[in-house]
Amino acid sequence: MRYRYASRITRLPPYLFAEIDRKRREAERRGIDVIDLGIGDPDLPTPSHIVAALCEAAKDPSNHRYPSYEGMQAFREAVAEWYLSRKHVRLDPDSEVLTLIGSKEGIAHSAIAFLNPGDSALVPDPAYPVYRNATIMADSVPVTMPLKADNEFKPDLDAIDSDIARVAKLMFLNYPNNPTAATADIDFFKSVVDFAYEHDVIVLHDNPYSELTFDGYEAPSFLAVKGAKDVGIEFNSLSKTYNMTGWRIGFAVGNSEILNGVKGVKTNIDSGAFQAVQVAGIAALRGSQECISANLAVYRARRDVMVEGLRSAGLSVNKPRATFYLWVPIPDGFSSSIEFSMFLLERAGVVTTPGIGFGEYGEGFIRISLCMDVNRLEEACERINALL
Ligand SMILES: *Cc1c(COP(=O)(O)O)cnc(C)c1O
Repeated sequence: MRYRYASRITRLPPYLFAEIDRKRREAERRGIDVIDLGIGDPDLPTPSHIVAALCEAAKDPSNHRYPSYEGMQAFREAVAEWYLSRKHVRLDPDSEVLTLIGSKEGIAHSAIAFLNPGDSALVPDPAYPVYRNATIMADSVPVTMPLKADNEFKPDLDAIDSDIARVAKLMFLNYPNNPTAATADIDFFKSVVDFAYEHDVIVLHDNPYSELTFDGYEAPSFLAVKGAKDVGIEFNSLSKTYNMTGWRIGFAVGNSEILNGVKGVKTNIDSGAFQAVQVAGIAALRGSQECISANLAVYRARRDVMVEGLRSAGLSVNKPRATFYLWVPIPDGFSSSIEFSMFLLERAGVVTTPGIGFGEYGEGFIRISLCMDVNRLEEACERINALL
């Protein structure tokens, strides 16, 4: 028997973090107290009123059966209300909202819904790896849009070759951005809509950090731009906003025909999100939003401690106005993000993510996550300061 994987699987890039994981375990075995600033997963618990709603809903036998594919009507209505009040975007809950089992699921299934073998999709780099890998798994070609510091980590749309733009079927975008923590304003989204119209490209905007903003900044929805609903959809998620990454609940909103394409794939692969989780999601979206401000206060304090600590260690780092990441240029004397990341792990016991793990244009940076107690962040800064 030979177990030959499909070529779409063998074409996926190698798992670059395996070596870091190995080094990390090795350090732990040596008794080193490792501080893991690599993970982008909220350490704070889900607010208790949301947990309570799940517990109640889990007891109700009507929630034990298969859910509807597009999600509960009440959940979709809660999403529409939430988008209106928080993002100032009006949505029809019947046709313009699709419940997802986490937004990652919807992102990956979108590629299958729209890409034929040999098609191409415009993919930012550095980026959340799912855009590129979902494109590859759809037997299609990811075309890199570099995100460079001198363009504030936004793709230069004018630089996209017109032949490439003409054949590309999808464009993935993500602001506030993981891993660079960059933000986009409404004018940038306007230029994206113009580009999409001109070249007949579907825009998939991934917005899971829409509520994780600081210092008075509000992250706009892509759909707030006139015409955006004709060209695209937006993914959002309860994962980061309400500390619910493990629950697997998110949604896509926007153009109903695009959403129908995604739904068509989902119908044949999954059977929707557990209704009790959707009921808890409604509690999150409709309940008091104080929990978000409380979260933000925690992240803001961590951000300030970490930025100041890294700066006094001699690293140059921007203070981000969104997300729970810092995108830090590697200092002189290091030739790669992996080398610097390994150095921090081996000599300071601090795990960071090398930028190259997010794509070739992530080289020269490391990503530091703020999903860690502030005392541990202070400890990490002290160790890095002593080391550098
Ligand atoms: C965390 C994250 C997601 C995934 O969210 P889920 O809803 O938990 O699947 C999607 N996109 C980006 C950029 C993320 O950082």
